[in-house]
Amino acid sequence: MMFPATVAGSLPKPSWLAEPNRLWPQWRLQGDDLAQGKLDATLLAVKMQEDAGIDIVGDGEMSRQHFVHGFLEFVDGIDFAHKVEMGIRADRYKAMVPVVRGALSLKGRAHQAEARHARAHTQRKLKITLPGPMTIADTVADSHYGDKVKMAMAFADLLNQEARALQADGVDVIQFDEPAFNVFMDEVPGWGIEALHRAIDGLKCTTAVHICYGYGIQANIDWKNALGSEWRQYEQIFPALAQSRVKQVSLECINSRVPLKLLSLLDGKDVLVGVIDVATDAVETPEQVAQVIGEVMKFVPKQRIVACTNCGMAPMRRDIAEAKLMALGAGAKLAREKFA
Ligand code: ZN
Repeated sequence: MMFPATVAGSLPKPSWLAEPNRLWPQWRLQGDDLAQGKLDATLLAVKMQEDAGIDIVGDGEMSRQHFVHGFLEFVDGIDFAHKVEMGIRADRYKAMVPVVRGALSLKGRAHQAEARHARAHTQRKLKITLPGPMTIADTVADSHYGDKVKMAMAFADLLNQEARALQADGVDVIQFDEPAFNVFMDEVPGWGIEALHRAIDGLKCTTAVHICYGYGIQANIDWKNALGSEWRQYEQIFPALAQSRVKQVSLECINSRVPLKLLSLLDGKDVLVGVIDVATDAVETPEQVAQVIGEVMKFVPKQRIVACTNCGMAPMRRDIAEAKLMALGAGAKLAREKFA
């Protein structure tokens, strides 16, 4: 199918499950009720995407409080009880982060329950996301490995373990979220891609990487305002991504200052084109969505274009996110009629 539609990852959680409109919401259920509530919300997320005409659906990340920590809570060797303050994303902002104090290992499956639940309830292709190794390594403090790259590779091995299991659960697309890729541009060709390759080693399902400029918090907005009229950070990492074994690259396009001509540097990759802005409540029209796809077609072969959101939608109002998903599905359909 031409221009299939998918989402970058997260969707807003129902207010009975977690506090709405927060990047770091508190759960509103406990124990077995929470476990069941996560699965119920996963089913709602899948249904909402199906009804909106999304072709490759996700679990909406209903089971995670945060896109990095949702994975880390399943990792042994991390001390969450004594967090330390650390400058992250090259000191763009400070965060209280957990500390790696011993050899890392998985306690068990991280996303089995929601992946299997979603798989059992949809016939569509299913995508599950995981944080990327470079982004994880930039979100925890290290007092064990003594070397950021060594620690990132250890995380990559754990991600690979979970990714292989997700593939066995029937997941069609596994995406790694690497917002750190446009912060440490020099390190992406150096070891970032190598860490991703370790994370996807042996996978036969479709693999993807999501990169972005970040949303939601003031430090990100200030940083983006300081980047000038053209955001060219990707120019330094796209050639390395094009050479990589990852099949798809997801990035923001609509209302972004990334020059679309940079997309031609992703030769050979499927491009998940962000056609839905997650930083504004203004709901796109199908015509706007189709227009962005039309512009991207100048730089990416049309059979390689997937319509997607710019980033996760977790902190948005639920009704607005739903309207935006409808615009995404309808816009991809319109683009098929116009450009196929
Ligand atoms: Zn993003």
